Amino acid sequence: MLWDFEYFEPANITEAVSLLQKYGDEARVIAGGTDLLVDMKNEKIQPKFLVSIMKIPELKCIVEDGAELSIGAATTLAEIEESRLIKERYGLIHEAVKELGTVQVRNMATIGGNICNAIPSADLPPALVALDARLKIVGVNGERTLPLEEFFLGVRKTKLKNELLKEIVVRRPPERSGTAFIKLARTSEDLAIVNVAVRITLNKDNICEEARIVVGGGIGPTLLRSREAEKIIEGRRVDEEIINRAAEVTSQGFQCRRDSIRAPPEYKIEVGKVLVKRALMKALRRVNGEE
Ligand SMILES: Cc1cc2nc3c(=O)[nH]c(=O)nc-3n(C[C@H](O)[C@H](O)[C@H](O)COP(=O)(O)OP(=O)(O)OC[C@H]3O[C@@H](n4cnc5c(N)ncnc54)[C@H](O)[C@@H]3O)c2cc1C
Repeated sequence: MLWDFEYFEPANITEAVSLLQKYGDEARVIAGGTDLLVDMKNEKIQPKFLVSIMKIPELKCIVEDGAELSIGAATTLAEIEESRLIKERYGLIHEAVKELGTVQVRNMATIGGNICNAIPSADLPPALVALDARLKIVGVNGERTLPLEEFFLGVRKTKLKNELLKEIVVRRPPERSGTAFIKLARTSEDLAIVNVAVRITLNKDNICEEARIVVGGGIGPTLLRSREAEKIIEGRRVDEEIINRAAEVTSQGFQCRRDSIRAPPEYKIEVGKVLVKRALMKALRRVNGEE
């Protein structure tokens, strides 16, 4: 095992991004380390320079401004779980974070790490995409914003180029919205076989104005937002029959690999369909105040 690296603890974002720029592919950001250190221990990666972001105060925040919530990338999952604001107004994030790992993991792990590891079975990205999350990314040449949905290029591949994820911004769900997150895993501490996050927003006549159906887990190289299934629901009065059709169409978009260690494709497709249906039914009951 080779543990030969230089460790930096920059005090601000400018210092952090200049280190990332200077050391390029030989450097890695470390936040909670719950993914990175496992990969280093297993010798999957051997960075020569580690840039810790945990001493940068700007990266640790949970702030609501108008109808938008900003979460700093180095905010821990435990801080998110404990946030009353998130529990009351962004229940989908609270629901997803509770399902992630163990208390010990959530105490260390960060929201930024859960996104930047680009593991398709990560639990927060589907919930965040269902809330139209945008990422604020910083590099030496300044800041850019990217929809989270467009951030992933494949398993462990993102659009970051020697850059730092600074902040995640989500929209507060409009009035008459219902959301739900459901995860199926082999054990309560394991990564998802399939996870599903949905949002439906109804108008005063109970017609669906906006739907989001997002599935993660081992159903493809990145999470899947099923726009086709969303179109089945939008503009209609939502009932069980429409939900069944949307669930069927969502599962048709899965690209499961046969060599997955968690479950075979046939199982993921069947179970994914059931979970999408259950999540949409739950979201509908929640809009109607029945749950
Ligand atoms: C026992 C155990 C159980 C787990 N269970 C789950 C689970 O149920 N669900 C789940 O989703 N995950 C799970 N995980 C995975 C992991 O805990 C999470 O993905 C966690 O959120 C990663 O955050 P971190 O801060 O520890 O990331 P780190 O390990 O520090 O970093 C992960 C990756 O992201 C990069 N990175 C981190 N922050 C930034 C940033 N701001 N900008 C740019 N790059 C960045 C790092 O360079 C690295 O490549 C589990 C892990 C363990 C060890």
